[in-house]
Amino acid sequence: MHVMVLGAGLSGVTTAWYLQQAGFRVSLIDRQPEAARETSFANGGQISISHPEPWANPGAPRQILRWLGRDDAPLKFRPTRDPAQWLWGARFLLECLPARAHRNTRAAAALATWSGRQLRELRARLGLEYDQLERGILHLFYSAEEFAQAPARARMLAGFGIEARVCGRDECLAIEPALGAGSATLAGGLYAPRDESGDACRFTQALAAHVAAQGAALYWDTEILRLLTSGSGGDVAGVEVRATDGETRILRADAYVVCLGSHGPRLLAGLGERLPIYPVKGYSITAPVRDPARAPSVSLTDESRRIVCSRLGSRLRIAGTAELNGFDTRIRPERIAGILEWARSRFPGAIDIDRAEHWAGLRPATPGNVPLIGRGRHAKLWLNTGHGTLGWTLACGSAAALAELMCGRRPPVDFPFLGA
Ligand SMILES: Cc1cc2nc3c(=O)[nH]c(=O)nc-3n(C[C@H](O)[C@H](O)[C@H](O)COP(=O)(O)OP(=O)(O)OC[C@H]3O[C@@H](n4cnc5c(N)ncnc54)[C@H](O)[C@@H]3O)c2cc1C
Repeated sequence: MHVMVLGAGLSGVTTAWYLQQAGFRVSLIDRQPEAARETSFANGGQISISHPEPWANPGAPRQILRWLGRDDAPLKFRPTRDPAQWLWGARFLLECLPARAHRNTRAAAALATWSGRQLRELRARLGLEYDQLERGILHLFYSAEEFAQAPARARMLAGFGIEARVCGRDECLAIEPALGAGSATLAGGLYAPRDESGDACRFTQALAAHVAAQGAALYWDTEILRLLTSGSGGDVAGVEVRATDGETRILRADAYVVCLGSHGPRLLAGLGERLPIYPVKGYSITAPVRDPARAPSVSLTDESRRIVCSRLGSRLRIAGTAELNGFDTRIRPERIAGILEWARSRFPGAIDIDRAEHWAGLRPATPGNVPLIGRGRHAKLWLNTGHGTLGWTLACGSAAALAELMCGRRPPVDFPFLGA
């Protein structure tokens, strides 16, 4: 059976790989000249199994109101005339209800745990190198009020089988000595030793090379214009594409998997398929490490500022902020400024800030941050998309689960797969 995977970010390339392992013949299409050039290009680098809680939680509406009007707000809503933005916002508020937030957290935790296992197996099998570090993630709290919530969070994670321990300030400094210089206001932390970090772009490109070596047809620089249907049931019958020569043509397969990030909803709208995905923009900087002793190597999450930080070989990646702003990927200096200021104050002298590369990408987010994995409403259409803040964490597990579903088997994960 021939499967066409649409999109070659983290979701598409891992999907292609796991489908090949399940015996499918695979084609992979992307408008970029290589894999992982859009949202999977410069994310925070965290395999953050210990952070399954979505932004949509009972405390979020109050928090967002407090941040209104602040240019450096971790989560910022910039109203547009796009009805999809308002609809997504309304659904986000619905997902903040306690029962829904708990259900979404549980689903993400289950998938993240299985995904971590898949990633470790895949890495061992292929010997992938992507500046990975297996030193855990240390969540940091810079106010006593926030740190007071850490024990409850550790208990919740333990309930999902995820190891995390509450650490006082001194233990945080012992886990990551580079915190010392900027730790005056540090209250404490929560350390998840099984979490990891690594460069998602390097990983995706390395895996894409294996996908190619296993005989996949790779269509780079190929824009997908629309999906075609046939028959009374509206089976997906092909994709119309345009390559760099400007020629349009139809590519056909036996099944199609949508992994198009934030752009999936626009293409599927033509089929009447409504995906609840909206772009949530985030920023990162990647800077050369100047003084290795001052730069952290344990991956960090500043819970007070919603900023994450991962050491990628001789570089430090710092990422954060969320902005509901449509498909605008321009880099706003005032948003990057907050990340640069964080780097200067938390790790003075650690990186060469003047040589930092600035980046912005669009997280393909569902309102509850639970990805869409499984059957679409049309025959021959499958989805593996909408991973929001956790696309790197969930990539291998989501793709392995989709391959199971396409083989007619139920994956061993307590997760609301579509059409299962
Ligand atoms: C600032 C930031 C920090 C993050 N940090 C983390 C983190 O630390 N840990 C974590 O787990 N996750 C993190 N994420 C989330 C993660 O990066 C995303 O969830 C993930 O990259 C999404 O992957 P994707 O394959 O779904 O989308 P993409 O990587 O965007 O892939 C979609 C692909 O589809 C292609 N495409 C789209 N439209 C078309 C078309 N019409 N024709 C042809 N091709 C098309 C694009 O070129 C692209 O290659 C972060 C995200 C951001 C923005």
